[in-house]
Amino acid sequence: MSLSKKILYILLPLLAALVAVSFFAQWQYVFPVFKQLERKDAITNFERVIARFNEDIVDLDLHNKDWGAWDETYAFIQGKNPDYIEGNLGAESFRNGQFDFLFYFDEAKYLYWHGIYDSESHSLVNDGSFAQLVVDRLQAKISTVELDLFSIDTHYMGFVLIDNKPIVYSIRPILTSREKGPSKGFILRGRYIDPNLISDFIKQTRVRFEISPVEDWSKKYSDKFTITEIDDETLEVARYVFSYDVPVMLVTSFFPRDITQQGKLAVQSALFASILLGFLLLFALWITLRKVVLGPVTHLTHKATAITNTKDYTKRTQVETSDEIGELSRQLNKMLDVIESREASLEEVLHRLKELSMTDSLTQISNRLKFDSVSQMEWRRMQRETQPISMIMCDVDYFKQYNDHYGHVDGDECLVKIAKTLSDSVARPADLVARYGGEEFVILLPSTDLDGAIHLAQTVLDKVAAMQLPHENSDVAPHVTVSLGIASVVPNEDNSLRQLITDADNALYQAKQNGRNTLVARP
Ligand code: GH3
Ligand code: MG
Ligand code: MG
Repeated sequence: MSLSKKILYILLPLLAALVAVSFFAQWQYVFPVFKQLERKDAITNFERVIARFNEDIVDLDLHNKDWGAWDETYAFIQGKNPDYIEGNLGAESFRNGQFDFLFYFDEAKYLYWHGIYDSESHSLVNDGSFAQLVVDRLQAKISTVELDLFSIDTHYMGFVLIDNKPIVYSIRPILTSREKGPSKGFILRGRYIDPNLISDFIKQTRVRFEISPVEDWSKKYSDKFTITEIDDETLEVARYVFSYDVPVMLVTSFFPRDITQQGKLAVQSALFASILLGFLLLFALWITLRKVVLGPVTHLTHKATAITNTKDYTKRTQVETSDEIGELSRQLNKMLDVIESREASLEEVLHRLKELSMTDSLTQISNRLKFDSVSQMEWRRMQRETQPISMIMCDVDYFKQYNDHYGHVDGDECLVKIAKTLSDSVARPADLVARYGGEEFVILLPSTDLDGAIHLAQTVLDKVAAMQLPHENSDVAPHVTVSLGIASVVPNEDNSLRQLITDADNALYQAKQNGRNTLVARP
């Protein structure tokens, strides 16, 4: 697996883990804060609704107090104010005062006067059964509670259910205008919590709510909040409203879950941001890794592979950074320096070895191996160029006797001198003088015809003679002489190098037969 893949396989799960942790943290710790906020906000708003109800009760109560502590009422309840009803207890008063019923009780707690307002007909109706219900419903409170009716502060107000309809009410003592007693009775004033009132409250508080009266009196009701998540959009907050420890109605309010939605949005945004950030980080890391590590390493790998494949040790890597990879590159180049110089010296040694293998150790001219290789090459070249190639076989005369007489060391020396003379005799670069074996030499003359070869052979005879190397035991001359056999041919399909050599050899034989120290040419 490549380095980049390995890194990617490590980084990708890392990113996934990062996102997962971020998501978990958001969901576990941030989102609940929004939920809590939403609940708190909902409860605060719910309390505003209750506060509004309480304001309404206080309004009603204040109104009631005004009427209760009034000399006119004080006289009316004692039967001394016949104009009171006409002046104060008309349907108008009910409507303007925003109350639905008014009950006057006398000193003995008997119902003295009552009015019930009908909002549809805008008139007071005589509903005896309702009046009875009110009296019954409040009877317990009126009869059992020790009302200190002389005190202005003593009053009752709250909620009550009458005929299963929630009502706000106030009870105030009937006093003089100076709020003095003795109290001559009390006034009960009430208002329905009807849909109109609720819709007013909804408008004022901007909280959507509804009420439902408590039905089962035997049940135990809690005054704690019940908070229900209806769905993603609505939160329901409900609580029983008590009046003097008696549960009256359940107020249920509904709140749009804006805060949670915002929380969700915030969590989603944070998540998205963390994913984006993660990807950006990954991308930046990737780019950095590519630039700092992967790029240079890939370069080194490619370069090293190319050098190994081409065996071109003159190439160098080019990472110039000051980090570990740069150091690796420098060390690699140093290694290549060593390899290159070793290669060069190896090349030299090989070249030298090749030279040595092609050189005759005694005479330092080309040996038989070199002759074989060059002669074949030149034969083909001449064949291509349809030019003549000539060969001179050269044998030292009576050399056995020379050795016998002068010894092998002198014999060797003599051979060295003859080799030198032969080498000195040829001029062209393509000409080759080689030791053919023992005291025999061969001269290869490419692009040279028989006449040229005869000419050169004559020169050789003359030069060897001119050396005047003493040879007492020679039968042909007092000095060292040679015999030469010459052959020449233009290479083609019908002749061969082997034949040329044989011809030169035969010519040499003929020269020996002719008395030595001479040349014989064979076309
Ligand atoms: P010919 O005139 O017919 O060529 O007679 P020859 O004596 O030269 O010929 P032969 O083939 O009978 O002898 C060749 C001699 O050359 C034999 C050997 O002692 C001598 N010889 C061959 N190689 C070397 C060498 O490397 N060094 C020395 N000193 N002598 C050599
Ligand atoms: Mg010989
Ligand atoms: Mg000889």
